[in-house]
Amino acid sequence: MPISSQQHAEIEQRLRQSRKDVMDAVADRIGGEAPSIAPATHTAQNEDMPQAEMISHNEEHYADHETTLLHEIDGALGRLETGGYGICVECGREIAPERLMATPTVQTCIPCQEMLEREQRRVNGPPPQI
Ligand SMILES: [Zn+2]
Repeated sequence: MPISSQQHAEIEQRLRQSRKDVMDAVADRIGGEAPSIAPATHTAQNEDMPQAEMISHNEEHYADHETTLLHEIDGALGRLETGGYGICVECGREIAPERLMATPTVQTCIPCQEMLEREQRRVNGPPPQI
């Protein structure tokens, strides 16, 4: 079942709030206004590109996880607008609304997420402890 318009509105609001939270944190840290970063479509369509090439100079103010998060948020907001939101990028099925409400930026359903995580562990080993 697709998400309701009420859930749609709530998810959009939460994404915008998360985006603001990240920007505010960066603004606090650099003591000024957070610079805008490249739109998420830039990364979504060029997944083969090396990481370094898609980072604009403004992103130097952002920690890696913040850049990633903002791209995820922007991507999710874009999908909310264009109608692709809540569809698993791996299998094309609808993602459970409860999952979207829990983590608005998810792009995969639970089975695909688990599969990807298993594959990632096999390819890269366990994630680094920072
Ligand atoms: Zn899936």
